[in-house]
Amino acid sequence: MSHQHLESLDVDSIREEFPILERTFDVASETQRADGDAGDDGQQLVYLDNAATTQTPDPVIDAMSDYYRGYNANVHRGIHHLSQEASIAYEEAHDRVAEFIGADGREEIVFTKNTTEAENLVAYSWGLNELGPGDEVVLTEMEHHASLVTWQQIGKRTGADVKYVQITDEGRLDMDHAREIITDDTAMVSAVHVSNTLGTVNPVSELVDIAHDHGALTFIDGAQAVPNRSVDVEAIGADFYAFSGHKMAGPTGIGALYGKKGLLEAMDPYLYGGDMITKVTYEDATWNELPWKFEAGTPQIAEAVGLVAAIDWLEEIGMDRIAAHEEELARYAYEQLDAEPDVEIYGPEPGPDRAGLVGFNLENVHAHDLASIMNDHAVAIRAGDHCTQPLHDKLGVAASARASFYVYNTKEEVDKLVAAIDDARQLFR
Ligand code: PMP
Repeated sequence: MSHQHLESLDVDSIREEFPILERTFDVASETQRADGDAGDDGQQLVYLDNAATTQTPDPVIDAMSDYYRGYNANVHRGIHHLSQEASIAYEEAHDRVAEFIGADGREEIVFTKNTTEAENLVAYSWGLNELGPGDEVVLTEMEHHASLVTWQQIGKRTGADVKYVQITDEGRLDMDHAREIITDDTAMVSAVHVSNTLGTVNPVSELVDIAHDHGALTFIDGAQAVPNRSVDVEAIGADFYAFSGHKMAGPTGIGALYGKKGLLEAMDPYLYGGDMITKVTYEDATWNELPWKFEAGTPQIAEAVGLVAAIDWLEEIGMDRIAAHEEELARYAYEQLDAEPDVEIYGPEPGPDRAGLVGFNLENVHAHDLASIMNDHAVAIRAGDHCTQPLHDKLGVAASARASFYVYNTKEEVDKLVAAIDDARQLFR
């Protein structure tokens, strides 16, 4: 069944749309070097760092270069043809994102630089004004620094306490603990949809229901979810939801914040300046309608065009097929790594609540050394704390290695990852 999914996803023709994946590197493995061997010419890139940033297919690059070649102009303000075309493309990009994640319309979609800026927008605009001593913000122990550091600082400035839903030994959210610490004092629950370190897919709608039962608002960080599964913000029920373009075959420099219209309407702007106003005098100003109230200055026009192209491209493949492909690769990688007695894997076992990334450590080898040896095989993985330092403290490690998959990855690439681990083991033995 799952094998069929892989076949039905035509990875070969998908890869043809990513010239970067054809890149080769002249590399020598550490064991080859130790043997005085010059190494292998032209090892093809194995790109397994997709949770950090995905590669960009030709249609997305083309859409952005079509914009610059054909209708580059500033938006919202021009009478001339180019500005009108750019304005329509930019504004309609909001409609397309709204449709993609199940929001009501463009008023509920604010373009930001990335997920991090979306977190900051809500924390500053809503948090600074609404929180005070006695209020509580509930995060999870697997939050990315994007929300963890942000709410921590807002807590310090407002006097609100920050609490954390614990994780279980398997790397899932302890929902009993969530029910215990989310109380009538809770004003905001901010949780990651898919953990970028553990791969856990969290039961976010259940979390949202618990929060709403206590009158709290919710912010779901979808940076690792929107790229690889079908997300419906209204079905989840979240008040705010955010993601980044560069993790979903789109460009860097653009992300989106979804917010329920009534909430966004009630919130103050985050950035002030041009375009976000209606009337300005020397004494005061009034704010533009949604979503422009939150988009001060010249926005990411080419990036919005690129994001739409990425959404079109992903939907043509099918989000469910992408999810199935990733789940299968993650399962395959998990099983291969799990068979190695000296590899420790973090996060839940493969299944519907595990996304397409595997964090791990090889005994006696620092994750950075491992990533460097992988690089000697032209295998690109990430090593470090993945912006989850407190979670790594909790796991009792300073760093971990992470292989993360996307729609263009193959089982053969996972095999190369495992072969590189063998090389590292030999070297450090
Ligand atoms: N949240 C999660 C779960 C992430 O994985 C990331 C990216 N590593 C972010 C937030 C931040 O994304 P960005 O850097 O695009 O703001």
